[in-house]
Amino acid sequence: PGGLEMHAYDVVVIGAGGAGLRAAIAAHDAGARTAIVCKSLLGKAHTVMAEGGIAAAMGNRWPEDNWEVHFRDTMRGGKMLNNWRMAQLHAQEAPERVQELEDWGALFDRTEDGLISQRDFGGHRYARLAHVGDRTGLEMIRTLQQRAVALGIDVFMECTVTELFKTDGAISGAFAYWRETGRFVVFEAPSVVLATGGIGKSFKVTSNSWEYTGDGHALALRAGASLINMEFVQFHPTGMVWPPSVKGLLVTESVRGDGGILRNSEGKRFMFDYIPEFFKAETADNEEEADRWYDDKKNNRRPPELLPRDEVARAINSEIKAGRGSPHGGIYLDIASRRSPEFIRKRLPSMYHQFKELADVDITAEPMEIGPTCHYVMGGVEVDADTELSGVTGLYAVGECSGGMHGSNRLGGNSLSDLLVFGRRAGEAAAAYAAGLGSHPSVAPEDLTTAQAAALAPFDSEGGENPYSIQQDLQQSMNDLVGIIRNGHELAQSLEEIEAFKERAKHLSVEGHRQYNPGWHLALDLRNMLLVSECIAKAALAREESRGGHTRDDFPKTSPEWGTKNLVLTLNSSGEGVDIAEKPLPVMPDELQTYFQEA
Ligand code: FAD
Repeated sequence: PGGLEMHAYDVVVIGAGGAGLRAAIAAHDAGARTAIVCKSLLGKAHTVMAEGGIAAAMGNRWPEDNWEVHFRDTMRGGKMLNNWRMAQLHAQEAPERVQELEDWGALFDRTEDGLISQRDFGGHRYARLAHVGDRTGLEMIRTLQQRAVALGIDVFMECTVTELFKTDGAISGAFAYWRETGRFVVFEAPSVVLATGGIGKSFKVTSNSWEYTGDGHALALRAGASLINMEFVQFHPTGMVWPPSVKGLLVTESVRGDGGILRNSEGKRFMFDYIPEFFKAETADNEEEADRWYDDKKNNRRPPELLPRDEVARAINSEIKAGRGSPHGGIYLDIASRRSPEFIRKRLPSMYHQFKELADVDITAEPMEIGPTCHYVMGGVEVDADTELSGVTGLYAVGECSGGMHGSNRLGGNSLSDLLVFGRRAGEAAAAYAAGLGSHPSVAPEDLTTAQAAALAPFDSEGGENPYSIQQDLQQSMNDLVGIIRNGHELAQSLEEIEAFKERAKHLSVEGHRQYNPGWHLALDLRNMLLVSECIAKAALAREESRGGHTRDDFPKTSPEWGTKNLVLTLNSSGEGVDIAEKPLPVMPDELQTYFQEA
């Protein structure tokens, strides 16, 4: 109708990061006519930026490692709020998924014996991250992309989805625009897999790229699905703090995994002062033992620099607040005094170049200045653990835009494995559902008209505000009021500010035409950013305790009562905000509970 470009598929995957590509391959292999739609160029998804590695208990370095230890580490890292079934499937299936990547041509770094090498990361009991230097995401994307293209899966790139369609309560398709021409595209499909990544662009200081505007989170809400764990945002302890143009850019955790330590302006290795009770038994309490651990993990406990990210980020924040920070408001990360220049250049080539080129710092000779940066959202679409099906028939979610797997805090390396394990599962389930339908639902013509009108609305008003100024104010507000340390008063204020931003966003205007118009694109993204920011602030205000990626200085303790429930967000009746409700966690079976019974 109306000369719209239309396509019909069994499965449409939105997103071409690790999760989307793996889901599309699985759907195609299961016989589904499959398309991938992505906002940026193929190969540019966020996954490409992943540095450290893929967590999988392959046991190549430590034969003692197995899925049970990985499962336990993941649950403890998430402070037991994880969906236990997802954590179990993830730990069990990650080794197979990594092996499969290798079969498809990924070239991992090797051990002396020729096995896939595995490196140490925070919260993982054994060296467990399969890696390619510090460019693991690039290799993963290269491999998956080559396979997807070789299989002949259709790819629509630089094409942004703004709306999902439902017919009789079930998914019937998606609506998108081409970034270059501004023309619209309609995908008719009974199965849609959301694999759109995270939300970091709602914060001012972030390691995330321009694409991370929470589109999948918002699309799911608008389609009637629910989000969980949204109060849990991971602030990575080590982002660059200088120069200003790169503030927030990630400094991989591998620097610490490979021996780097944190010092304050007095030269003190301060992490020993911040070992929480929960991790005391497994963390070294003196420098000698911590340093011995790199070579002898059996007889020594791990260094406190490798505590889970939330612990390290909070410690850094406290040191800076106490006036022991570096000149540019960070803290020092020192590998230069601990490892040889050859070792550093070989193990951390990207970090070496990143600091040399961007900050004129030689990390083989001087310490880096780093500070916390908004990195990852644990929260996302609430899904069934085995199939990644959301609450809406035909709508699946996987990767960073899904919730549950990581609980209140994600361990490093557990995202890339999450993408592969659940990407495959979602693709298979989406294909099976489509194959089981007698006929495909069609999109109602009036829904097409509404979607077009909504996408064009930013052109309708004149003399309104520029979307960039609203975005900037939102980012500052989220950073200041919903950041690493929160309190009830500021969270309530943030919700008021978000309401005011929403009001301003109703009257924004964009200049120019539909051809390649970033202002218009931002206006459409902003709707999603505002909705998702509201979810984060609302859940953060409701959860009156501190746990994982959520720290309240008015409720500094972890509360046993809050450890039994999730907060679930759904679109409210106005369609422009969200409602929040408590929901009990799924109960872990007894045989899995035994892993947590020792001290
Ligand atoms: P992405 O890779 O972000 O892909 C999202 C896709 O969705 C993109 O193709 C985008 O174009 C598309 N998209 C979004 N919105 C729309 C829309 N509206 N319409 C159409 N398409 C859309 N994790 C680890 O496990 N190990 C690591 O070492 C590691 N290092 C990291 C380093 C950095 C710097 C960062 C930022 C993250 C790192 N992470 C790491 C986290 C991990 O990289 C991400 O969580 C993961 O890559 C997310 O993958 P994804 O497939 O869910 O989404």
